[in-house]
Amino acid sequence: MQDIVIMYHYVREKESWTGSVPISPEDFRKQIEWAKENYEIISPDDMNKITKKPKCIISFDDATKDQYTIAYKILKELDVYGYFTVMSAPLESGVVPIFHLVHTVLSHINDEEVWNELNAKFEIPDLTEKSAYYSYEPNVYRRYNKYVFNFLLDEQSCRRYLEEKVEKLYGSIQSFIKAFYISIEELVEMKENGMTLGVHCVKHLPYKGDAQEFYNTEIAPCKVFMQQELGITPKWFTPAFGGGENAIQMRAELEPILRANGFKGAFTTIEDYTILNNNNFWFNRFDCNRLKSIQ
Ligand SMILES: [Zn+2]
Repeated sequence: MQDIVIMYHYVREKESWTGSVPISPEDFRKQIEWAKENYEIISPDDMNKITKKPKCIISFDDATKDQYTIAYKILKELDVYGYFTVMSAPLESGVVPIFHLVHTVLSHINDEEVWNELNAKFEIPDLTEKSAYYSYEPNVYRRYNKYVFNFLLDEQSCRRYLEEKVEKLYGSIQSFIKAFYISIEELVEMKENGMTLGVHCVKHLPYKGDAQEFYNTEIAPCKVFMQQELGITPKWFTPAFGGGENAIQMRAELEPILRANGFKGAFTTIEDYTILNNNNFWFNRFDCNRLKSIQ
């Protein structure tokens, strides 16, 4: 048996959140119980601890509200600690990354309706072939919509369309942020109850190849936000999209900069076992929805 890190995003009922792939609260509880039985669940700061069982870290990306109302409550009940990561732009400057707007709109509005609206607003070519990229989506309109949002529209048009929808659903972007993300007060409470908080990003931008620039724009401002608002100097980092297309380059180039700025380690989206000790810097993670392969 080797050490593992499990990666979680949304922890909520599947029917209430069809725009993405959440794990249900019940399945989440079962997984944590399984992990607790087979591993020693630790905080990142306890990596060098000598344990009888292999070690496991429970990690969360994006700091959405369900992680506070559902996951954190379950972790407390089961008396284990989790590692949560902060995205500062929504809390600090009211900017929501596009993919969260997409998940929200697709969870609330019928796909055919969205597709018809997009066609009325924009010049959309035939997407039959291109949308095959999303062939795992059973609904063909969902495939088209995702393709349009993620590949066809420029960020500004995309944002304008999606924000208008979200404003209709929630009243305003500010009230959406309040409902959708863990608040500063809640993050402080989590910290005080032993949860580890790390840096995820500022705006959830992909790594484009300039490590110092990436550190300055996507990492440092989040670190400062956490120091000022949460009273924490973060030591752990989880890159957005795992670094995306440039992940290998990112890991090599960013590591010395992170180390120089006091970070002790960071987490990937490479699906594999890992060795949890401080001699390593990058740690692999299994997605919770694909954990069956090792259970
Ligand atoms: Zn993320």
